Amino acid sequence: MNIHEYQAKALFAKYQIPVPNGKVAFNPQEAQAAADTLATPITVVKAQIHAGGRGKAGGVKLAKNKSDVASIAQELLGKILITPQTGPQGKEVKKLLVEEGVDIAKELYVSWVADRGTASIVLIASTEGGMEIEEVAAHSPDKIVKLSVDPVIGYQAHQGRTVGFKLGLPKEVIGQWVAMLGNLYRLFIEKDASQIEINPLIITKQNKLMALDAKVNFDDNALLRHEDIRAFRDLDEEDPLETRATAHGLNYVKLDGTIGCMVNGAGLAMATMDVIKLAGAEPANFLDVGGGASKETVKEAFQILLSDPNVKGVFVNIFGGIVRCERIAGGIIEAAKEVSINVPLVVRLEGTNAKEAKQMLAESGLNLTVADTLWDGAQKIVAQVR
Ligand code: ADP
Ligand code: MG
Repeated sequence: MNIHEYQAKALFAKYQIPVPNGKVAFNPQEAQAAADTLATPITVVKAQIHAGGRGKAGGVKLAKNKSDVASIAQELLGKILITPQTGPQGKEVKKLLVEEGVDIAKELYVSWVADRGTASIVLIASTEGGMEIEEVAAHSPDKIVKLSVDPVIGYQAHQGRTVGFKLGLPKEVIGQWVAMLGNLYRLFIEKDASQIEINPLIITKQNKLMALDAKVNFDDNALLRHEDIRAFRDLDEEDPLETRATAHGLNYVKLDGTIGCMVNGAGLAMATMDVIKLAGAEPANFLDVGGGASKETVKEAFQILLSDPNVKGVFVNIFGGIVRCERIAGGIIEAAKEVSINVPLVVRLEGTNAKEAKQMLAESGLNLTVADTLWDGAQKIVAQVR
């Protein structure tokens, strides 16, 4: 799960990681009121969307006069920001962070990320802050310093010092740097983050380290034990179909292809997606309706699949283990009465009472194709969509 910059900064403040003073605002009046409480002459107004690259896209504005904040906020709110991370459709700005403008002497990059490959927590740091780290990695990889921390031992101050010296940080900030990395690491572990990225982390003209940007991702599987983090969830920023699926106990992930898949069990869902690709098309989604797929879940799943305009055909591939095939067939027949299925539909049911289920589908009068095997089904749906 992603959170907004203003939420991440509130979390940073709790962990003694220095951030500029600021407030979230939902309308121009709130933005102006927030600016009036800030101490600095310059105010920064920042669009809050779940994507980076806002600066270059016009989502970060400087107000030299405090009295300009309301009109800047007016201009930003409701605007569709298109950045390299939003995709071409962009994201609507619904909230702003109004914060103190800081005197920047140097911009750095720092992130902690869970690295599954080495089963460690990796620190990535660079003196080239403000740029995309991928760009730095491509053009000047020597400017990136990495450190791998064994989670059993945890981050040690000497490691932070070594990285600080490698980066050539001024000695006035080394102490702050070592402590800040430790605080970020503690936040990472305590809140089950999967990534924390600060770009830029700055050194101010007064030699103070400060996080000017803040991006934190959390491990979805650990959210159940973090009520405070769950409260940060912003459904406006998430795919509405995924939200709806979660509410009905379905595991749904939207993808870019054209074949909608309805499958029970994550393993079978993965195999189905592979076989669709092998047959020459791309899956439009991952959808696991669960081991005990019922009539209701099948109906809901159809509705979710068919609300995606990219779906040009649906492949139902369900194994009747816990649930008998004829109940699934009944669910499909009922769903088809209520949801108009206006794209080709191929159904493959295997397992308990598969024969009866096939017969029911064949006699239902529905416009669908019954398939015998996984490969047969994949080929049939791909051919029909072509
Ligand atoms: P994004 O990464 O989405 O472009 P950032 O938060 O990194 O957004 O802001 C972009 C740039 O704007 C920063 O690199 C920094 O130069 C400037 N900036 C952001 N916040 C402040 C601030 N409070 N004071 C001064 N400059 C800022
Ligand atoms: Mg940034």
